[in-house]
Amino acid sequence: MEDTDYVKQLNEPARHRYREKITAHIGYDPYQLKKSDFSRDLSDLPAVEAMDITSYLVLHTSYYTASQMKAYKSLEAFNYFVCGWVNDLGTKEALNKCRLVFARVNHSQRSGETPLKTWIVAKEDGEVVTAHCNCMAGLSESCSHVGAVLFAIEAGVKMRETASCTTEKCKWLMPSHVKKIPAAPVAMIDFSSAKSKRQKLDDAIAGRTVEKHTFQRPTVQGSKLERGSERYGCKYEATARKQYEVVQSLHHQGFSCKDSGFG
Ligand SMILES: [Zn+2]
Repeated sequence: MEDTDYVKQLNEPARHRYREKITAHIGYDPYQLKKSDFSRDLSDLPAVEAMDITSYLVLHTSYYTASQMKAYKSLEAFNYFVCGWVNDLGTKEALNKCRLVFARVNHSQRSGETPLKTWIVAKEDGEVVTAHCNCMAGLSESCSHVGAVLFAIEAGVKMRETASCTTEKCKWLMPSHVKKIPAAPVAMIDFSSAKSKRQKLDDAIAGRTVEKHTFQRPTVQGSKLERGSERYGCKYEATARKQYEVVQSLHHQGFSCKDSGFG
């Protein structure tokens, strides 16, 4: 196998290790493939489950500790995925009945740069064999981008397995591609919007309708009522007003209240 441009620019130990990985598990260098060489079909994904992700990132590479993994929803890798930073995910056959999954993942710290190219190799049953990423940390075979791709595969597999997932609906219901990344260190990036995206994703995975069951809050002059106490007040306003009138009437003659307009 001839070295691709990517391999040529690696230093000797990294080059050696990279060659070793692709020779043993893939039979070609994923970095020489075109987008059209990959299958976008969910049914071609290796059956990666949470257990396989933990096994690879915790036991195999020690990238995360077991307790970090338990709180996976707070991991950068998971949030990269939920925020739509994993794109163009595709699959191709590799050696020994393994599958190569290739994706582009947005840079975590630099906006406007070409996305990273990240790949993993897994057995059909989901066991992750090896991985690579062209970020600085990726040479060590695990980084947040590798983690993000694994979470994306897991979600794709879940969607595939959802009974109500029709072929039509089953096309990537993944978080939509985010092109613009805030130019801030990752620790400063607000991932709070990930929460609602995650809910949508969970719904898609479970085959639930994507329409949200929104609670329409009453508004007062355009401002939203946020607190639980205010919502409680809306619900029990009539009762509360009556009680208030009773108490105030003891001290004030002819006391009465007007509706606030909350109801
Ligand atoms: Zn990486």
